[in-house]
Amino acid sequence: MEPETTEKTQVGTRKAEVVTPRIEWEYAPSRESTDIVEVADRYELFIDGEYRKPKSGKYFPTINPATEEELAEVAEAGPEDVDAAVEAARAAFEDGWGRMPGSERAKYIFRIARMIQERSRELAVLETLDGGKPIKESRDVDLPQVAANFFYYAGWADKLEYAFPGFRPEPLGVAGQVIPWNFPLLMLAWKVAPALATGNTVVLKPAETTPLTALAFAEITAEAGLPPGVFNVVTGAGETGAALTGHPDVDKVAFTGSTEVGKLIQSQLAGTEKRLTLELGGKAAHVIFDDAPIDQAIEGVVNGIFFNQGHVCCAGSRLFVQENIHDFFVDKLKARLATLRVGDPLDKNTDVGAINSRQQLEKIRELVEAGVEEGAEIYQPPCELPSQGYWFVPTLFTGVSQSHRIAQEEIFGPVLSIMSFRTPAEAVEKANNTPYGLSAGVWTSKGSRILWMADRMKAGVVWANTYNKFDPASPFGGYKESGFGREGGRHGLLNYVKHTGGRS
Ligand code: NDP
Repeated sequence: MEPETTEKTQVGTRKAEVVTPRIEWEYAPSRESTDIVEVADRYELFIDGEYRKPKSGKYFPTINPATEEELAEVAEAGPEDVDAAVEAARAAFEDGWGRMPGSERAKYIFRIARMIQERSRELAVLETLDGGKPIKESRDVDLPQVAANFFYYAGWADKLEYAFPGFRPEPLGVAGQVIPWNFPLLMLAWKVAPALATGNTVVLKPAETTPLTALAFAEITAEAGLPPGVFNVVTGAGETGAALTGHPDVDKVAFTGSTEVGKLIQSQLAGTEKRLTLELGGKAAHVIFDDAPIDQAIEGVVNGIFFNQGHVCCAGSRLFVQENIHDFFVDKLKARLATLRVGDPLDKNTDVGAINSRQQLEKIRELVEAGVEEGAEIYQPPCELPSQGYWFVPTLFTGVSQSHRIAQEEIFGPVLSIMSFRTPAEAVEKANNTPYGLSAGVWTSKGSRILWMADRMKAGVVWANTYNKFDPASPFGGYKESGFGREGGRHGLLNYVKHTGGRS
């Protein structure tokens, strides 16, 4: 590789070089084998420890978004099936899971965690086939985090009294959990692991477009010997989700997804005693000061918005660059965009995989067209896309104003809206100018400025000189229309217990 152009640029008081690489070799893909996964033709519901045909008699296809090929057909749970799953979960709770000593529950959860590790390559391939995310992300990010969450919460199962000193925490009962398609197995882990650790039983509704890993997980729970009914899966679309969240015998609802559906669930539960946590959308501000480590910040921005095709609730989708480095930073970012490899998610070198569904692709296209119509300037690097499947070229917009739809609405795709600011106060004001409040990022070499910004940005998580860092011990959740309640860490246990007995 030889530098094609070398341009010296003055950045404030700093000199920097923009180097555009010229790649002279021909690319050879490195494809992950799918032999490790056996996808069945048809999947049933998982209720009371066994696979059951849906009483609804209905099935829906799940497809590979990278090829548009049907992978399998999956049972659609109707209200009667949801009733059966909730009934099984209630019976399993009453029969003993809710009263089992934490040290015993922990054994099951540790066993599940180990089995996830053992089958992690298979689960990663399945996640990529069903959802379109690059294999390097499902293999190196999602699966290690999934196992880590089960290990982490298994560790809490026999220490709950230390998590809430002075109180005796008790399980709530049956948890109805509805998860989205962007991190199917990871969102399952965030919800199922703390629920089981605290002695609750679960009925899970995975997203319609990504049900397969939840069903594989169900198989793991059965092999781990988890008592029947403790974990159940009802597959289906929004109606199945609504039947679960509105079920009278569910004690706690946990939802991750769109703000729109979050609001529907909130009104569905109004007036009931059900506990609710909502993890909804985001429009995170990623703020770059002129004293930031520029190369690292470029990587942080790329990770912030192009990781998982931008299908990330905490994606850094609004970039604020300090005015005196704006043009320089944008040029560097454009050069970096041109090096992103878009295409086959099973290729281990792919950076940006397939868009999860045709519906999501249409939503991204609509918002990008709105950005152009409203007067922002679009940049897309030259990029060859596969002829089949759902794809979107990594895109950035400059000249974006605060009122543009692309600065206000969650696009949930590989699209970045870039704006500028002059002072820290202006950065805060612009960063907070959104109905959301899930996450934010700051890049600067001044520690005091990081703290000053973090105090003022209305976001559940503020990353400093990094982005998209997750740990099971660290709580995650939003403010405003990004929802309420925290998942992860000790805080994540709180959603699944009631405190009885007062101070012991
Ligand atoms: P949804 O909020 O519709 O989907 C999330 C989950 O809720 C899915 O399992 C879905 O089922 C289920 N669901 C849908 N309607 C209901 C209902 N009335 N009651 C209970 N559960 C329901 O998100 P979409 O998939 O439609 O995506 C739309 C937009 O939402 C995206 O473009 C993105 O902006 C945002 N989004 C945000 C996510 C986040 O993590 N914050 C995650 C996913 C999407 P089904 O799969 O069948 O629709």
